[in-house]
Amino acid sequence: MKQTESTRVVPLEAGAGPENPPCPACGEPLFGWIGEKPGLPGPVRRCESCGLGVVGDPGGPEEALRELDTLRQENGALRIVNRGSFAAALGNAGWSGLRPKAKYLFTLESVRRLVAHRDQVVKSRRWLPGAGLAATWQTLLNSVTFGHDVALGALRGEPSMPAPEPWQRRIDALASVVLAIPALLVAIPVELAGGLLRRGAVYSLRTELL
Ligand SMILES: [Zn+2]
Repeated sequence: MKQTESTRVVPLEAGAGPENPPCPACGEPLFGWIGEKPGLPGPVRRCESCGLGVVGDPGGPEEALRELDTLRQENGALRIVNRGSFAAALGNAGWSGLRPKAKYLFTLESVRRLVAHRDQVVKSRRWLPGAGLAATWQTLLNSVTFGHDVALGALRGEPSMPAPEPWQRRIDALASVVLAIPALLVAIPVELAGGLLRRGAVYSLRTELL
């Protein structure tokens, strides 16, 4: 089997292997993105084609669709933290979308591909600037804290991975306060640009049957 770096043009049969299992959304091979990280069950791979991220071993489209359905809100829309966002590209292992229970890390394109498996289309897509700004801000703070998502964990009760040692948690709390405003000043233009270029951090999607 020929292994190659030029992932985009490699047909599935050539690029796929134990290290590069197929993407549950589009079938293209997945490639390594983030190695082992405390709090995550395994390394994270991503699809170079549709952008889907997968923590640990990927399942099939049914499993990814089941997780996608858990993101459905009371209004019926799916709310995704976008792995194709500027925040994710900037944050990598510090991206706030890496949450303890999230196995599939969705993008706009991967959702489109996934729901097509059950004859659905994405009918509308709405950028959520407030939630996106919070996610981008938290991503920036994650680059300076020992823990992960600790500020949003404290402010909004969102899932977080606090640092193991008490002294680390104290430093994290202090850093989150001192750097809150500077991080916000960076997050605002990043997320505004993301929203304009369909690379915002959080989206609300509505699907319907074909
Ligand atoms: Zn894919």
